[in-house]
Amino acid sequence: MAEIARVGVVGAGQMGNGIAQVFASKGVHVVMLDVNEEALKKGMATIQKSLSKLVEKGKLEAPAMAVAISMLRTSSDYGLLKDRDLVIEAATENLELKRKIFSQIDEAAPEGAILATNTSSISITTLAAGTRRPNKFIGMHFMNPVPLMQLVEIIRGLDTDDETYKTIMDMATRLGKTPIACNDFPGFVSNRILLPMINEAVYALMEGVADAQSIDQIMKLGMNHPMGPLSLADLIGLDTCLAIMQVLHRDLGDSKYRPCPLLKKYVDAGHLGRKTGRGFYKYE
Ligand code: NAD
Repeated sequence: MAEIARVGVVGAGQMGNGIAQVFASKGVHVVMLDVNEEALKKGMATIQKSLSKLVEKGKLEAPAMAVAISMLRTSSDYGLLKDRDLVIEAATENLELKRKIFSQIDEAAPEGAILATNTSSISITTLAAGTRRPNKFIGMHFMNPVPLMQLVEIIRGLDTDDETYKTIMDMATRLGKTPIACNDFPGFVSNRILLPMINEAVYALMEGVADAQSIDQIMKLGMNHPMGPLSLADLIGLDTCLAIMQVLHRDLGDSKYRPCPLLKKYVDAGHLGRKTGRGFYKYE
């Protein structure tokens, strides 16, 4: 199994900074890249805040927080990936963008490095095929918020080799997570099931079946879900939810996955959920 001591994370948004945090907390050197300087600053601030909360709750020793912070660097220079053992892409959910990012990563990272994507829905096999190392390419789908959620869905592309798979299953376990493997189909298991439910909740809202609070309360109290589907959509990001529904709709070719027009309308308006302060709910 390959040794993972230096990791690159591409994308410093809510998932990227969470992924960077969990690796750094286990003593792995992390460089976090983003094209947006503001996103890098916000990403580091989020990590600081998240680690401080863990210290306050007694779940992390203060010196361990300092060590984790010392493991982290941020940059917009893909050249810094030249000594990485593993690079995880966690940028915006868009096939063309991810293809472009992976050609840059493939160019910059050493030949033996494993490339992973945190995509929510896009084909691992397709992204792998755009690189020179489809055998060393894998889906490593963390859940949001990354520091708190137990699951990592692991997805092998058609050509992912056994060594890559074993190394990544082992790494996820070292992070204190529970990796569960599934096959490469649109949305994998998690979003094949979750997103149609969220999309249906948006249809219920659009059709006036109930207001947003009532829809969420019914699902929380009636189904024992920790969050209602519309609150969860705001947490995930409505742009990401729409992108996932578009992948399910296009790649599975079934009209039952058609994205709700109201979801599209919110995204067109720039109301993307928590990250913009407004989605189905308003946030301070
Ligand atoms: P986000 O919008 O919070 O962050 C995306 C980041 O990507 C931004 O900071 C943006 O500047 C950066 N980016 C865009 N183009 C880039 C480039 N060329 N190079 C480097 N960085 C670039 O999105 P997110 O919620 O963190 O989602 C990231 C990925 O994780 C997506 O593929 C998404 O589907 C997946 N994901 C999201 C969730 C969730 O709940 N939000 C859960 C699991 C997986």
